[in-house]
This record gives sequence, C-alpha cells and structure tokens, in this order.
Amino acid sequence: MNTPRECARHLDDEAATLALGRDLAQGIESGLQLHLHGDLGAGKTTLVRGLLRALGFEGRVKSPTFTLVEPYEVSKLSLYHFDFYRFEDPAELRSAGFLEFFGTSAVCIVEWPEKARGHLPAADLEIWLRAVDDGGRSARLIANTERGARWLNALPP
Ligand code: ADP
Ligand code: MG
Repeated sequence: MNTPRECARHLDDEAATLALGRDLAQGIESGLQLHLHGDLGAGKTTLVRGLLRALGFEGRVKSPTFTLVEPYEVSKLSLYHFDFYRFEDPAELRSAGFLEFFGTSAVCIVEWPEKARGHLPAADLEIWLRAVDDGGRSARLIANTERGARWLNALPP
C-alpha cells in the first residue's frame, strides 16, 4: 500500500488548530518525533494543546518558551514538549542535558527545531504552520519515516 507522505489543511481559526492537534492523537505511538515549524504566533503551542487535551490531559498546557521543556504522562505515553526558541547555539541541547530525552520511548514534540539543528534526531513528522491573509493558518504536514507516514495516514479525513 502506498502511504501518503504529505498533506495540507487550512485552519480557519484557533478551534481548527486545536482540532488538528486532536486528530493527531489518533495515531500517536511511543517514540514518535514531531517537529513544529512556523513563526511566533503561528499556532504551534495551540496544536500541542489540542493534542494533549485529546490524550486526556486536563491541566493547563503551558508554553515551554521559558522552561524549554514541559513533561507529560498521558494515555500511557511519556511526552515531552520542547521549545528551543531561546537557544542561541544548537549545542545548548547537549549542555542543557536534553539529549537523554530523545531516542527513548517518549514522544518528543519540538517547537523551533531549527534552533537545535544538527543535534536532534530526525523527525518522523514535520508540520509547517503559517499565518495566511484571511486571518487563519495553513498547515503542511510531511512524513519523513514509515512511522511518520502511518501517523499521517491515521488522521481522520
Ligand atoms: P506559537 O506557539 O506558534 O508561537 P501559539 O500557539 O501560541 O503560537 O498561538 C498564537 C495565537 O494564534 C493564539 O492567540 C492562538 O489563539 C492563535 N491561533 C492559533 N491557531 C489559529 C488559527 N488557525 N487561526 C487564527 N488564529 C489562530
Ligand atoms: Mg509556542
């Protein structure tokens, strides 16, 4: 079977971004690596909020802008939500002691992965979010691995 490796969605409003996060909860598996690209305010944290809610997390989903990482235990998964916006040098990933989080059975979701370029494991799925002039956002999803393609394929239509 030919698994789709790419898809796009238009996200009319915040609710649509939350819904895409919710839809990503469908095919989530331990160890998946998700990279979120897009400018400040593009909706990356909103998407993670929708995903965590769908996994049953009921607390406040905080942006990891200052803490750099927020850990979660949800739905039998360990999940780490990173934001590397404040990194000035990709090598800070190592000095911050974050490498140990990657390459385990934890799901890792990374905002601003480009700030840690060359130091992060490859993403199974990458999502690009962009503001469009109707006030909404465009989302482009690209799978880089078989696992990522299965995840993409598990999205409801
Ligand atoms: P980022 O993490 O990319 O910096 P946030 O998730 O914090 O961005 O979202 C920034 C703002 O964009 C929030 O106020 C959120 O409500 C809004 N937003 C999210 N998705 C959409 C959308 N599809 N259309 C319009 N506004 C959105
Ligand atoms: Mg954010």
